[in-house]
Amino acid sequence: MQDKVFDIAVIGLGPAGSFLVKHLDPGLRVIAIDRKSPLGDSGFHKPCGGLLAPDAQKALSAFNMTLPKSILVDPQIFSVQTIDVQTALVRHYQRFYVNLNRHRFDQWLMSQIPDQVQLHTNAICKSIVQSEGRFTVNYLQDGQTHCIQAKYLVGADGAHSLVRRSLFKDFKIKTYLSIQQWFADAHSTPFYSCVFDSELTDSYAWGLTKDDSFIFGGAFAIGSGRRDFEQLKTKLQPYGFRLENPIKTEACLVLQPFGPRNYCYGQNNAFLIGEAAGFISPSSLEGISYAIDSGYLLSQCLNNQADDPNRAYRRGTRRIRLKLMAKYLKRPFMYNQTSRKLIMQSGLMSIPILT
Ligand SMILES: Cc1cc2nc3c(=O)[nH]c(=O)nc-3n(C[C@H](O)[C@H](O)[C@H](O)COP(=O)(O)OP(=O)(O)OC[C@H]3O[C@@H](n4cnc5c(N)ncnc54)[C@H](O)[C@@H]3O)c2cc1C
Repeated sequence: MQDKVFDIAVIGLGPAGSFLVKHLDPGLRVIAIDRKSPLGDSGFHKPCGGLLAPDAQKALSAFNMTLPKSILVDPQIFSVQTIDVQTALVRHYQRFYVNLNRHRFDQWLMSQIPDQVQLHTNAICKSIVQSEGRFTVNYLQDGQTHCIQAKYLVGADGAHSLVRRSLFKDFKIKTYLSIQQWFADAHSTPFYSCVFDSELTDSYAWGLTKDDSFIFGGAFAIGSGRRDFEQLKTKLQPYGFRLENPIKTEACLVLQPFGPRNYCYGQNNAFLIGEAAGFISPSSLEGISYAIDSGYLLSQCLNNQADDPNRAYRRGTRRIRLKLMAKYLKRPFMYNQTSRKLIMQSGLMSIPILT
């Protein structure tokens, strides 16, 4: 039984879980479970635009981490073509993203998890129960169900977090269906585009060249998402988008926090980090930087053996919440049709395209 009892069980090894586990004190008994494969292309892939935003670059720099070339994809793009479908306005703005292969990025972070952590990949957590001061976690691996117990439980399992749904059933947050398709790239030049269509979504859509592929994705209302996605593809034909014969379709949920009450930090020795906690930009849907920041923050709270680690973590997230609030204040300029039109019409900060 002893080898099934841990100090900390971590569900999910995206950037949040990997950063947490990497920085936990080696003296702690830690088990980490993720359904991804640590090597190769098979298994679960997190649907993602795979753009490393300046905030995420800064977060990695704080750990002196540099990206290996094998994670990058072709090409690196310096501007975003922004399209407002209602006004047919198109503008280009400078951007400083790194274009990468998200699956390989996650695998690279997972590869840095220290040996003392009991790591279970290709494993799916099925249930979590809290009783008598312990968590009982059941997970499926190689067709077999396993059961472990832990004093602390961490949900790093993304937008549709099983940990959050199991332990914090009353928590509600605005959620979109995100659909992303992959195509053999048929455009004459590579590009990155951001699309606003207020008739089909109050969030946004994106298109991006990645090696020989072009990905097109967006966030939509849950009930009508698939129909809205297809309609948007049709509407983008006049703008030169070539979105026929998708090779792969991915879908997942994406959260959009709308204020200070939209975060779920956990309580009673359960913790949520990264997108599971609601830490994702409400304007751009950038989430990797918040995953890294919250994962590291929690590692410090657990390492320091604070009397009340839940309280310490909640307090520590203040900086993350303030940053998210600043992003929230940006929303009207992006998502309010009138202000977006005025900004785009004015040409403010845009790059004139010389043909
Ligand atoms: C379509 C789309 C595009 C996006 N594009 C960008 C972008 O370009 N740049 C950016 O910064 N952000 C982007 N985001 C947001 C970003 O992907 C997330 O905010 C970020 O990945 C959150 O990291 P995380 O570690 O909290 O969770 P995740 O990266 O979602 O990781 C969760 C992990 O938990 C595992 N898991 C989940 N449930 C279980 C279970 N039951 N058992 C075992 N394992 C489980 C999964 O395998 C996964 O590895 C995008 C989101 C979407 C949906």
